[in-house]
Formats: sequence, structure tokens, C-alpha cells
Amino acid sequence: MSITEEKLAELRAALEEQRDNLRKEIEEQGGDPDSDDAEIDVERGFADSAHATAERARTLSVMKALRANLRWVNRALKKMDLGTYGICERCGNPIAIERLEALPWAILCIDCKRKGEGR
Ligand SMILES: [Zn+2]
Repeated sequence: MSITEEKLAELRAALEEQRDNLRKEIEEQGGDPDSDDAEIDVERGFADSAHATAERARTLSVMKALRANLRWVNRALKKMDLGTYGICERCGNPIAIERLEALPWAILCIDCKRKGEGR
């Protein structure tokens, strides 16, 4: 692996910070960061209020995005523990360090990412 210990520690710190921020945001939206059901969070959050459907849908999409991000971050942290961090999950090549610095939770190299999702 081409990532230095030092760089890895830096990326881990960035991931942990991101994880804590996401968990806090989920809590602020009325959700439980350890649960994985955004629908239930939103139902609970809106149970005793008269929010419009649009507002509810907005909160749901925010919550889903936060949870999706949290999943990526946790996955990257797990990969660090397993020693597979920085390796593309699709082709097995190392992910460029520039990419990891920009997106520490990246699990695909830029080539696979482009091929896979067209963005
Ligand atoms: Zn790849």
C-alpha cells in the first residue's frame, strides 16, 4: 500500500470527525444515528406537529443523505481496521491519494467510479 502511516492517521481523523458531525446532524434532525430507518425517524419527529407534507419529504431526504454518508464513512473506517483502506473495491487497484484526501470515504478508484455511476 502506498499510503504512509502518517497520511492514514490524518485520513482516519478526518473520517472520525466527519462521522461525529453526521451523527450530530442526524440527532438534530430528530433521528437515531444508530438506527438505519430514516422513515421511522421522520415519523417520530413529525408525530406531534402539523408539518406540511413537503417539509416532511424534505427532512426525509436530508435524513437519507446523512445516513448514506454515515454508512460510507463507517465503511471506510472499517476498511482501515481491516487494512484494506485505499484499495478500490471493484478492480483492486490503489485509489489515488488525491482522491482519498478529497473524499476520505471513497471505496472505488476514479476509473471505476466513472464507469459505474456516470458521475
Ligand atoms: Zn477501480
